[in-house]
Amino acid sequence: MTETFDVVVVGGGPAGSTAATVVAMRGHRVMLLEKETFPRYQIGESLLPSTVHGICRILGVTDEVGRAGFTVKNGGTFRWGRNPEPWRFSFAMSPRLPEPTSTALQVERAKFDHILLRNAARVGVDVREQCQVRGVIEADGRVQGVEYTDAGGARHTVHARYVVDASGNTSRIHGRVGGSRVYSDFFRNLAVFGYFAGGDRLPQPNAGNIFCAAFDAGWLWYIPLRDNLTSVGAVVSAEHRAAVQGDPRAVWRSMIEACPEISSKLVGVPVATEQPYDQVRVRKDYSYWKQSFSSPGMLLVGDAACFVDPVISSGVHLATYGALLAARSINACLDGAVPEQRSLAEFEARYRREYALFYEFLMSFYDMQSDESSYFWQAKRVTAVDATEAAAFAELVGGLVPGEAGVGLRLTESAADLAGAVGRLATAGDRHNPLAAARTVGETFRQGRNLQEEALYGGPLDDTEPPVPGGLALAKDGLGWIA
Ligand code: FAD
Repeated sequence: MTETFDVVVVGGGPAGSTAATVVAMRGHRVMLLEKETFPRYQIGESLLPSTVHGICRILGVTDEVGRAGFTVKNGGTFRWGRNPEPWRFSFAMSPRLPEPTSTALQVERAKFDHILLRNAARVGVDVREQCQVRGVIEADGRVQGVEYTDAGGARHTVHARYVVDASGNTSRIHGRVGGSRVYSDFFRNLAVFGYFAGGDRLPQPNAGNIFCAAFDAGWLWYIPLRDNLTSVGAVVSAEHRAAVQGDPRAVWRSMIEACPEISSKLVGVPVATEQPYDQVRVRKDYSYWKQSFSSPGMLLVGDAACFVDPVISSGVHLATYGALLAARSINACLDGAVPEQRSLAEFEARYRREYALFYEFLMSFYDMQSDESSYFWQAKRVTAVDATEAAAFAELVGGLVPGEAGVGLRLTESAADLAGAVGRLATAGDRHNPLAAARTVGETFRQGRNLQEEALYGGPLDDTEPPVPGGLALAKDGLGWIA
């Protein structure tokens, strides 16, 4: 059976739901194909304010997300860098964030993603679960639809003006756009993670913070999801791959034991036995980008397009922000407001810029933690970035990141900025966060703040410069571009 839609979105994670919802809100016909039945498990539980107060508000799920009872996150607490004492990055101390939106959430992704997907259906998206996309349909150098199989194994074809690949890191169709994935050598990490049925909390008002602690083999995250559920994961170098894959649970436990700041919070706490938190899982090969994110008729968003690294919780922000940009560009094309090439170029430029900012920030964040005796931390010196990776990355960025004067130089300055700001935290007064004032942090989180201000006030409050020189302006309803 062949059907026709304006847009087909592949994947019902945060990226897919966001793209589908924003296109449907403009009145276009959208089908979303998801291979699983929701709620389904996913990692990526610590969110940023831009997702909670920007994207969720634009999508219209603020109240529902509020009612779900997720843990409120005021920021992050880190045992990281030269400072032997834990230090804090609090969203509320950023002078530019309006108070009510200076928080984020720690979410059980099965519940959060389900809210977004149900909302997509509510605004008119034709959501079909248990439908697995097998490939794209092409004609005349353009992607024109997809083929999928339904729960009963029947094959279907659907035609559309645009296909959005939001099928995450396991995407089987991303190869149609931008060639093979470029894997980062710098971030080439491995994560092994599981759950405890409780655990100590940081003192209030930071009990909901993510806690990240560096140790010899890498670093651990500690995310309070509920009173009786804590997500704990280790990020280590790929050299541990064989051991981790041999016995993930044993390696996970031994890494927690090797980090007293984390293990001391879990004394006597049993591991979780409720599903889906009873398993110890492994993720590898997750730091990559594509040389382009779009081609005629097809756009990549979320993990199908790129991901950096779990530190600083940027994954869902990049996924949903990229999806919002894709939807705006598609709407502008479908409405005839902007020619396709120009509209897709806007999507590409803004998305690459955001990815590049986080990529550089995360590199400098790793660079801050120096430990001469640790293989992991030595390999995370920015000076160790190999020339091929730097060249491939420079090609992706293409001058979009301001101040860039050769990737290595800029990164070294950023790491110094950041370390200096962390050093000044000890003397900072309550209302001033030196981290928010540091150039590298300010630039990285600028778009997130703009997103929140767009959602709340219809546009950035005092930021009139277009993010991309000569770029398109945002339509009044925030759902498209105008030339
Ligand atoms: P997904 O959430 O993966 O959704 C893709 C969907 O597509 C899935 O539902 C899948 O079933 C569906 N699908 C796949 N193939 C097909 C197909 N062929 N047909 C139909 N449907 C299909 N991010 C954060 O923000 N905070 C964190 O704390 C964080 N921690 C992380 C820790 C680790 C170890 C890793 C690896 C990542 C972490 N992330 C984090 C990143 C985060 O997990 C991702 O960036 C985010 O889930 C991307 O969302 P998405 O919608 O692109 O993809």
